[in-house]
Amino acid sequence: MAEAGEVARVASRAQVGLGAPLVEVEVHLGAGLPNFTIVGLPAAAVRESRKRVRAALACCGYELPAGRITVNLAPADLPKEGGRYDLPIAIGILLASHQLRAGRALEACELYGELGLGGELRAVHGLLPAAAHAAVAGHDIVVPQANAWEAAMAAPRVAGAAHLREVCAWIAGDATACQRSAKVPGGASTPPAAIANAEATASVEATASDAVFELDLRDVRGQRTAKRALTVAAAGSHSVLLVGPPGSGKSMLAQRLPGLLPPLAPAEALEVATIASVGGRIVERANWGRRPFRSPHHTASAHSIVGGGSRARPGEVTLAHLGVLFLDELPEFDRRVLESLREPLENGRIAITRAAYEFQYPARFQFVAAMNPCPCGYLGDESGRCHCAPGDVERYRGRLSGPLLDRLDLRVLVPRVTESVCDEPAADEASSAVLVRSVVAARARQLERAGRLNAQLAVRELAVHCALTPTCNSLMAASRRKLALSARSQHRILRVARTIADLGACERIAPEHLAEAIQLRRGWEEATR
Ligand SMILES: [Zn+2]
Repeated sequence: MAEAGEVARVASRAQVGLGAPLVEVEVHLGAGLPNFTIVGLPAAAVRESRKRVRAALACCGYELPAGRITVNLAPADLPKEGGRYDLPIAIGILLASHQLRAGRALEACELYGELGLGGELRAVHGLLPAAAHAAVAGHDIVVPQANAWEAAMAAPRVAGAAHLREVCAWIAGDATACQRSAKVPGGASTPPAAIANAEATASVEATASDAVFELDLRDVRGQRTAKRALTVAAAGSHSVLLVGPPGSGKSMLAQRLPGLLPPLAPAEALEVATIASVGGRIVERANWGRRPFRSPHHTASAHSIVGGGSRARPGEVTLAHLGVLFLDELPEFDRRVLESLREPLENGRIAITRAAYEFQYPARFQFVAAMNPCPCGYLGDESGRCHCAPGDVERYRGRLSGPLLDRLDLRVLVPRVTESVCDEPAADEASSAVLVRSVVAARARQLERAGRLNAQLAVRELAVHCALTPTCNSLMAASRRKLALSARSQHRILRVARTIADLGACERIAPEHLAEAIQLRRGWEEATR
């Protein structure tokens, strides 16, 4: 059946950082002893892919051509991960051996999918950037059905298939063999009806971000200062440190920050979904447009936080892009991990260098950290149960470097809530839905005035946008002397005061705005002295 000298070509894409360069899968059949070679993939991936392709072809009633099969994934110098090339390799073999004839123009078509041993198509990671690039190139793409919804968010012509046989029928010219997606003009695609099925069965890694979007700040009783700090943080994109004893609700509060942030714009939603896709999640309708909330454990490695490893995967700082990164028990994190946060906190980006590549990942997240006030956790608590020596408290807090602590704009005490507060009705507490409206209005003022949010104002811009009245100037001078404020601290206080004024729809920073900004930064230290 196989004729010597035939070459079939099928297009697919690799995943490099957040990009998706084209990969041509060439299949050559030659005379000689039976041999199946794949070049251009790492050795382990080759072994696995060959086994899957061989079994899938046999299960579907096709023959593995006798003689030499050479598969080349070009260009060779691109890093490639195994599974997604199974489908183009299998189709290339069928085309080269004339077991399949193309009834449509395959030059304008890209194939993706990992094959099960029975020929079923399994979802692959990182498909969204590939779909976006395919759309730019004007290509059709064929993807596993479990990826079809995700692909349809970026590409207009997606065919979702559950099995190798469906792809073969589709390539042969049967337009009904795969589920087509339809894109609605001017925005997000409507997922094809048949894909609802795939959505239900797709194995999606459940993460904390699934549950936090619906959480309302109103569910947390009391904690007025902390709630105010979160609202200010949301309005100006400021970072927050929550200090309080165990069980005081620091995590509950942090989880409610995404709900205070304005909805993602369509381009932002696509960016967040692209990162999630590259990070190993299958993007689904339920997650679309949600701001990420990431809360890595304090034992996390620097690689998992900033990204890297052999595959240069995005780390937590990138997975939290345009959302919230929450580090509970901040002093327990490895010192190197904490130091590695400085670059993304400063630039909103992170560079990861691998042998041949440098990846730039976006990492503009809102940073929320939590810690106990002392080693036992109860310093300043009304129970008086803390007996930590002053030296121990100092050492505990000393685990945080000055530069990192300086970058936390708002630092508030989260005391244990007494039972009387818990019994009070929540009626007079503002809901997240109400607060987010004032956040959106405050952000609009900032963008109109400076083109960016207050937390991102450069030092030289402070004199323009955060100019102080003489009264405010003397208040700042008095605080500087009393609290020994560094220049960096004063800059941060100015930005926060500007945000507080914006929340009040005020043109100028008034003394009460400045006083609240100082209190939101330094109040906790006095309370736990
Ligand atoms: Zn203590």
